[in-house]
Amino acid sequence: MIKKEDFFKLLVAHCKEYGFIFPSSDIYDGLSAVYDYGQMGIELKNNIKQYWWREMVQYNENIVGIDSAIFMHPTIWKASGHVDAFNDPLIDNKDSKKRYRADVLIEDHIAKIEDKVNKEVEKAKKRFGDAFDEEKYKTTNERVMKYISEINDIKTKMTNALNDNDLAALRQLIVDLKIVCPISGTCNWTDVRQFNLMFSTQIGSVNEDASLLYLRPETAQGIFVNFLNVQKSGRMKIPFGIAQIGKAFRNEIVARQFIFRMREFEQMEMQFFCKPGTEIEWFKYWKEKRLKWHLALGMGEDNYRYHDHEKLAHYANAATDIEFKFPFGFKEVEGIHSRTDFDLSQHAKFSGKKIQYFDSETNESYVPYVIETSIGVDRMFLTVLSHAYTEETLTDGSTRTVLKFPPLLAPMKAAVLPLVKKDGLPEKAREIMDMLKYQYMCQYDEKDAIGKRYRRQDAIGTPYCITVDYQTLEDNTVTIRERDTMSQDRIAIDNIPSVIAQRMKL
Ligand code: ATP
Repeated sequence: MIKKEDFFKLLVAHCKEYGFIFPSSDIYDGLSAVYDYGQMGIELKNNIKQYWWREMVQYNENIVGIDSAIFMHPTIWKASGHVDAFNDPLIDNKDSKKRYRADVLIEDHIAKIEDKVNKEVEKAKKRFGDAFDEEKYKTTNERVMKYISEINDIKTKMTNALNDNDLAALRQLIVDLKIVCPISGTCNWTDVRQFNLMFSTQIGSVNEDASLLYLRPETAQGIFVNFLNVQKSGRMKIPFGIAQIGKAFRNEIVARQFIFRMREFEQMEMQFFCKPGTEIEWFKYWKEKRLKWHLALGMGEDNYRYHDHEKLAHYANAATDIEFKFPFGFKEVEGIHSRTDFDLSQHAKFSGKKIQYFDSETNESYVPYVIETSIGVDRMFLTVLSHAYTEETLTDGSTRTVLKFPPLLAPMKAAVLPLVKKDGLPEKAREIMDMLKYQYMCQYDEKDAIGKRYRRQDAIGTPYCITVDYQTLEDNTVTIRERDTMSQDRIAIDNIPSVIAQRMKL
């Protein structure tokens, strides 16, 4: 069992050693909160994107994809509200000179109290056994009730301060809760200030002509400003959706927890346009559908939960997050928001163009309402990776590190391994490799003892190892080894592609 505090260090080191993720600009000592994906990472990332694209675009006749540019007209970010309000509240500790997000400091404090609740619940579970009723316990045990009421009180105060943009109240809450800087251990805080998260640059070669541009902080706006183009050129009928995968940039104040919070990251977003009045129905539909998509990967129902937003942004009339149980607790991996007609109306106002949909059946025009599903590719990557990373002690006392990826997402689907490097086995293995590689990402490996090669494949999460041995030369069969159980079956060479396809099914 890996200790919680060691888990992340091991995971980061493993990612670097096996070509999943490298710090950006590594030979220059890295760039904070920016990462590069290596030869294994890119495969896993592409598989995640494909898994999403199929579900959203390929399987839905009324959803189409686009790829809009990262640079957009600067007024777009005025219209969307990002110039004025895409801020995070930051606070500095005067002793350590470290900068924090004020809301994150408070959320971390809440998480500590939640931990206490969970510990009490665990203890009680053991004490009461099968008769334990968690809900009842939480509403009757005095100590737990005190913790829960404390949490609710802090949450209310924080939400109110954030909604009212009352930065003094936010600071006061940090002081009242005696939150200290983890580095200096002191409570010596500056005032809280708002900090805009958008990166900016310039377009145009000469200073006088140059104008300010933003690197998009979300892909969604590229969809909204193309609403009319797509609707007209695709003759799309409401309800319909537009999906997009692309890079987004945010100058995050506290970038930490590896690829959980990055300054350059990738999003997979879908905006679903529907008739006003039907949006809550569609919101519920997408909320359910998106969770099912996550659950289909088989990473455990208990590792997911919804977090419905109580306080909503002024333009939203429903919002929820799908949270995943990361090694550092439950955190958002995807957001589903009912955004009303806010974005399209704002763009109509700022561009001076009429952005409406004409319903030929009812002969009416209206501004469609929007349900958004928004998920970070990298954050999804981290769910898959942190769930997959396992260290096991085997029956012979040896240990192995294995990435138990859902086979569909694994970077390599199979490895082809000749038992020895002689007697015609490599040639036979090459034939199999040539047969498989057009269908699946595969690796050929003939170096080192077979046991060592199995470990290498375990470490990159390859679900199937195909071993060519002397019997193969006699009867055209091979062994297929399963990554998780390490069990081996003998199958005919001709059947390898179909056996892999069958076993890979989710
Ligand atoms: P958070 O509260 O964690 O900052 P958010 O609510 O600002 O996230 P959204 O604006 O709703 O996030 O973005 C949608 C999705 O994009 C998130 O659910 C997350 O998966 C991903 N995402 C957002 N910011 C980052 C980031 N800095 N690094 C990696 N992924 C991100």
